[in-house]
Amino acid sequence: MEVYRNTRNDAAGIPASRAILEGMADDGGLYVMPSVPRLDMRRVCALPAREISLETLLALLPDFTREDMRGVVSRAYDGRFETGDITPLVKVGDRYVLELFRGPTSAFKDVALCALPQLLVEAKRMNAETGLTMILTATSGDTGKAALAGFRDIPGTKIAVFYPEGGVSAVQRAQMVTQEGENVAVCAVRGNFDDAQTAVKRAFQRALEQKGALPEGVKLSSANSINVGRLAPQVMYYIKAYGDLVRRGDISFGDEVDFAVPTGNFGDILAGYLAMRMGLPVGRLVCASNRNDVLTDFIQTGVYDRRREFHKTASPSMDILVSSNLERLLYYECGCSPAYVRRLMRRLAYDGRYEIGTDMLFRIRDTFSACAFDDGATFSTIRDVFEKHGYVLDTHTAVAWAASEAKREGRPMVVLSTASPYKFAGDVLRAITGESVADGFAAMEKLRALSGTPVPKGLGDLRDAKELHKDVIEADEVFAYVAERARA
Ligand SMILES: *Cc1c(COP(=O)(O)O)cnc(C)c1O
Repeated sequence: MEVYRNTRNDAAGIPASRAILEGMADDGGLYVMPSVPRLDMRRVCALPAREISLETLLALLPDFTREDMRGVVSRAYDGRFETGDITPLVKVGDRYVLELFRGPTSAFKDVALCALPQLLVEAKRMNAETGLTMILTATSGDTGKAALAGFRDIPGTKIAVFYPEGGVSAVQRAQMVTQEGENVAVCAVRGNFDDAQTAVKRAFQRALEQKGALPEGVKLSSANSINVGRLAPQVMYYIKAYGDLVRRGDISFGDEVDFAVPTGNFGDILAGYLAMRMGLPVGRLVCASNRNDVLTDFIQTGVYDRRREFHKTASPSMDILVSSNLERLLYYECGCSPAYVRRLMRRLAYDGRYEIGTDMLFRIRDTFSACAFDDGATFSTIRDVFEKHGYVLDTHTAVAWAASEAKREGRPMVVLSTASPYKFAGDVLRAITGESVADGFAAMEKLRALSGTPVPKGLGDLRDAKELHKDVIEADEVFAYVAERARA
């Protein structure tokens, strides 16, 4: 059962439950399964969504029992998503949109962040850990709310979310500061996202270095996408989408399907890669980026170079220069050599760039294609798709739609949709009508009138929800804030 290894060293393996508890290795390496288990895809893709989730989680996290995992899946998804099948597949024109945003916070991160807390609780029980787990998250918007909703009132855990004061949209802020729950804290930090993130990283560092700074038995943990407990739950929706296509008679089992994925930290698309390695007939994974096109360059040239300008775009969840989960792909495609991965990651840390060999690049390009679009192209895609098909894309999904158009190779194409358009209503409305509406809630209402689709309940209710979290602190007060919350 010691099936998880470190991408950066040859240390002995650990079980999946331990990999979930540790999140990431002390040397910065990520936990991976060198040999990815195969599933009987013909059978599994025909199952209902919850059963697909169960089978993939059991395969990827093999020290959990079937009975315990059944409990995890049911607590994660029952009654929490707008549709019974968790991630509906919708036909739009000549392709398919996989709606991943039907969860409690209208972001695709819900699929994983509803399951992670349940997996964590189970992993603690399996490893006889009884102390408090304190989740710390710095957020530029979407992750914070999804993590709050996931960890709310989960026994043995507390969560503190830090967002840059004035650095998130009004709707995103409202989503967070109205969060209910006994174990949640939400706090603005003076500064930008980087300041908040650096402060949170320093808090982790201080907890390691300064024994006794936190109460006895308290362990800090994070909810970000390097944790295998967040990655594994995402594999399900690729298999489910494929099964939907077979059921509709649009493909026969065995036909290859392409997926276009709006990409930031490379977690979502890596889940597709894992689904493929588990046996799903995938043709190509299209990696879609906004103006922050470091991944496009990498997949086209084999050179990863982070030394470039950072752009703030209309698809902020894809604004990123270092995509952490790419390390896992490097590990697999170099033949599972930690020495090689360690070398590349050192280069990245010291030189800000690395380059892979041609053979490896060709292997990666057997599976991946990539392209990037700026905000102008994003907005015109939103308008075109609405005018032609009456379907409203959010700003992130629109980037993937544009990429699916550019990288089409004749196979059926599924576009992954990562956010409800209502979360980015101002931009989406402006893209379609040219109208600028500053107030996010007014924009939502206009978008509803235009599209005729209901505003998700969680977003619609926000306007009248009570503001519960008003703390604002300096970046250097984050650790003290955490320590106080841990004691409370
Ligand atoms: C997080 C996020 C992404 C990027 O997903 P990764 O797994 O980080 O690549 C894309 N779109 C939205 C709306 C997101 O919240």
